[in-house]
Amino acid sequence: MKKLISLFTFLIVVAQINAQLPRVIILATGGTIAGAGAASDRAGYTAGKIPIDDLIGAIPTVKKIATITGEQVASVGSQDMTIDVWKKLAVRANEIFKNNEADAIVVTHGTDTQEETAYFLDLLIASEKAVVLTGSMRPATAISADGPKNLYDAITVAIDPKSKGRGVLVSFNEGIFDAREVMKLSTTKTNAFGSPNTGPIGQAYDGRVEYYASSVREVNVNTPFVVKADSKLPRVDIVYMYADAPADQIDLLISKKVDGIVIAGVGNGNFNKAYMDAVKRAVAAGIIVCRASRAPSGRVVLHDEINDEELGTIVSDDLTPQKARILLMLGLTKTKDKKQLQGYFFKY
Ligand code: ASP
Repeated sequence: MKKLISLFTFLIVVAQINAQLPRVIILATGGTIAGAGAASDRAGYTAGKIPIDDLIGAIPTVKKIATITGEQVASVGSQDMTIDVWKKLAVRANEIFKNNEADAIVVTHGTDTQEETAYFLDLLIASEKAVVLTGSMRPATAISADGPKNLYDAITVAIDPKSKGRGVLVSFNEGIFDAREVMKLSTTKTNAFGSPNTGPIGQAYDGRVEYYASSVREVNVNTPFVVKADSKLPRVDIVYMYADAPADQIDLLISKKVDGIVIAGVGNGNFNKAYMDAVKRAVAAGIIVCRASRAPSGRVVLHDEINDEELGTIVSDDLTPQKARILLMLGLTKTKDKKQLQGYFFKY
């Protein structure tokens, strides 16, 4: 009887400790972190093969620091990421926080478009609670797979009280990056991510999280943007500028009646005469044209080399073309007014 009572007391204590642990929901989308290769010494693999419960199972010590639940939202390589999956993630994340189902969210994601998903969610999750994306460069079956460490670190970042109010973060290779700034900079290296304009904002190391900078562009609870599962987002495409580029792609987009075009211009958002004429046609057709740059850092300056007022264009500020597209897509759900849209680019 005595033994039974002490076992019972022990179980209650364990249950109490668990109840006190921060609750983290992992929303899994696939990517290399869930990839399986043919052999441990081969880099080739199929993305999104390994279910989230197995990924969590690979880091058993995480049970000591958090109560983890996994949800498989998608199983794709992130080159196949879609706006539909983005919407599912945003809707589910907002629901989780609204219903107080978790204290933080981790999203596992392929690295190719991770920065886009991070910024999309950053603009849409109306909570101070932490949302952290991570992934890996090597599949789970590879020698020195980086997925388990990245996932563990992302969880430590997510549950750290200092991560609150920082918007969506990317935790990768021990660096912590702001969603707005982060960019995949290497095609194959395990230190694939960086923030060319600002650098990482913190570090996750040995189970400890430290911050050294914070963004002044956080939206959090004040986001003006709302997306529902059935929302149809405006179509915004990106056109890349290069020496002697013909403007056929812009004309094709005009004929497709897209809502917005982001030009990945050269240097300070510049383009050649052919593009200039085509941009005028696009603006005349009521399409919002945003000048961004293919250069990996720096900002595109309004009314500088190009007079945007005269041309009828707006600028991306220091957002990359792929992130400018996201902000323009969401901005266009609110307004077609260029001044207001430009305001979003200087605010978010
Ligand atoms: N192609 C993969 C993806 O983005 C690469 C990765 O995850 O590292 O899903």
